[in-house]
Amino acid sequence: MIFIMKPGASDTEIQHVVERIEKKGLSPHVSKGTERTIIGARGDEQKLAELPLAAIPGVERVIPVLKPYRLASREVAPSGTAVSVGGVKIGAGHFMMCAGPCTVESLPVLAETARLVRAAGAQALRGGAFKPRTSPYAFQGLGEDGLKFLREVGDAEGLPVVTEVRDLRHVELVARYADCLQVGARNMQNFDLLLELGRVRKPVLLKRGLSATIKELLMSAEYILAEGNHEVILCERGIRTFETATRGTLDISAVAVLKAESHLPVMVDPSHAAGRADLVESLTLAAVAAGADGIIVEVHPCPEEAVCDGEQALLPAKFTEMMKKVKAIRKVVA
Ligand code: PEP
Ligand code: MN
Repeated sequence: MIFIMKPGASDTEIQHVVERIEKKGLSPHVSKGTERTIIGARGDEQKLAELPLAAIPGVERVIPVLKPYRLASREVAPSGTAVSVGGVKIGAGHFMMCAGPCTVESLPVLAETARLVRAAGAQALRGGAFKPRTSPYAFQGLGEDGLKFLREVGDAEGLPVVTEVRDLRHVELVARYADCLQVGARNMQNFDLLLELGRVRKPVLLKRGLSATIKELLMSAEYILAEGNHEVILCERGIRTFETATRGTLDISAVAVLKAESHLPVMVDPSHAAGRADLVESLTLAAVAAGADGIIVEVHPCPEEAVCDGEQALLPAKFTEMMKKVKAIRKVVA
């Protein structure tokens, strides 16, 4: 921890900071410049972390040396971590394409979608059974029936299944059927849900909140990791900005920042970022070029009849075409 004192801080104020540091068992090192004094605190920084240090008289700023996200930090595994989603690896050089409908609508539609995306090269199937809808009157998902359909179709096609768990009370139920539990953007800071997922032995796909910073996303990942579940995949899915041309603004820099800051695999969801099918390919290719370890994308055999998010769903033929370009870009960046 580094304390930067205000210009003109008195000797009494400096001495007070020194005493506060010593009281917590750290060793202070005072460096007096011509304009200001800087005080370094060596030792277990965590002991100071929760104190309102900037409230100490004479202190202008306090800079922590350690990252607040210890387990999510790149320092933990400099070459990256691979997470296994039902046997399919993502991260540390492994790329995973996950595709499927926004929501599970029926067994035949899901089965058809899965067959087509697998034929195009997808390695995992997505589909929501518990949907986080803005309106309480909108379709909320098929619940456990949806989970059953996902499991059945996933097993038939040999595709691991990724699905959202919206509620703390459903963690056990969803974990019984899914290979990977998705935390939706709206739940990124549902800390009780994160803690519960930390106790599950299934990977978690953690989506970035609509207005969450990268640091907040990493702190949310830390909740899951600190509780003992080390299989966390981060996901950039578009954030809220002033721009209205797209549903969200895909933060491509988040991919590069997350890769630099964390050892965890990074996925990108171009569908919810774009909100328009015609932009999904561009965003996908940009994400792959930026170093994303995986993509999660919405595909529907008949988007105009989709129960949810049809405007942003790719037709299977378009998905097939996009997959070819993804593979080509992977060759360049991998
Ligand atoms: C989804 O993936 O279906 C979804 C609802 O995404 P998000 O939580 O990112 O809005
Ligand atoms: Mn959707």
